[in-house]
Amino acid sequence: MEPKIRDLRNEIDALNLEILEKLSQRAAIAESIGELQTAAGASHYDPVREAEMLEALTAANDGPFDDATVKSLFKQIFQASMHLENEADKKSYLTSRRADGEDTVVRVRDVPIGGENAPVLIAGPCAIESREQVTATADKLAGVGVSLLRGGAYKPRTDPYSFQGLGVEGLELGRAAADAHGMGFVAEIMDARDLPAFEAHVDMLQIGARNMQNFTLLKAVGQSRTPVLLKRGLSATIQEWVMAAEYLLHEGNTNVVLCERGIRTYEPSTRNTLDLSAVALAKQETHLPVVVDVTHSGGRRDLLTPLTKAALAVGADGIMLEVHPNPAVALSDQKQQIDFETLDAYLEATGYAKALSRERHEVYGF
Ligand code: PEP
Ligand code: MN
Repeated sequence: MEPKIRDLRNEIDALNLEILEKLSQRAAIAESIGELQTAAGASHYDPVREAEMLEALTAANDGPFDDATVKSLFKQIFQASMHLENEADKKSYLTSRRADGEDTVVRVRDVPIGGENAPVLIAGPCAIESREQVTATADKLAGVGVSLLRGGAYKPRTDPYSFQGLGVEGLELGRAAADAHGMGFVAEIMDARDLPAFEAHVDMLQIGARNMQNFTLLKAVGQSRTPVLLKRGLSATIQEWVMAAEYLLHEGNTNVVLCERGIRTYEPSTRNTLDLSAVALAKQETHLPVVVDVTHSGGRRDLLTPLTKAALAVGADGIMLEVHPNPAVALSDQKQQIDFETLDAYLEATGYAKALSRERHEVYGF
């Protein structure tokens, strides 16, 4: 190589290092500004300040780069700084995956959800309809090793003339059915005023899709220490879902399990579209356990097994499933609940039969 070019390239190399050092210094200062802005609740993006900096730079520019090139180079630098500031904010959320990578394990009664624990199964009727119905379901579920019973006592129905749930009586019936087998009981709360009754009867509070952004309810449930199953809203983005969980953690309730239950899309063949990327992303970006409600996702019995396998394959910590002694006469979600025979086939097909018997052995010693 021409010796002159080599010398000039050496000069460029030295300048590159100098520029890098200056850029790093600049980034560190931008981070400090970002921290102060976050503490003050101010935005990191300040277009007026950005315009002023660009103006000062172009005024000082004597070439050989033209003003447009100088502006575009510095805009890149501004953007990179803002990215740093936004990333720092993400890390400071209580829901964000921590640097140590630890998963949160939520204990519902004596059942651990998340971390290295075997995937759980939360099963039971859509709504608690009678003592006979919920008792028969709990008996069946306990018999196959399911340790968490679900059942709605307050139902969020589209049609005001549809069955609305048995209210407190439903909570009492669910509690009794679960207690007969030492099971945990999960039910949906729709109104913060019902919290005392729920705390007296359930082991896990479900916040339904329709209430995911009911901030008054989130704040009230956040004050409780009862574990929460937070469903994703019908049309909620992943970020909105995680921010709803942030409300709960911010209020002090750290026992939060996220539940993907399908989102509303243009696709009519399934009741909702199960968003498996949301499961993978929520697991990646938060430390909270994530379960998948395969019943409300597809709204189809014929998809329960494949959706379960897929959910577990992307890392779900458990599955929620609706089971009813006689779905044909169910007072809600008639088309999607499964009977006991179908449950047996489902447990075999998904591998849950084996997983549950192992868990049962571990818990009860037989
Ligand atoms: C339910 O689980 O009973 C329910 C109403 O589900 P979602 O809130 O997901 O629609
Ligand atoms: Mn239902």
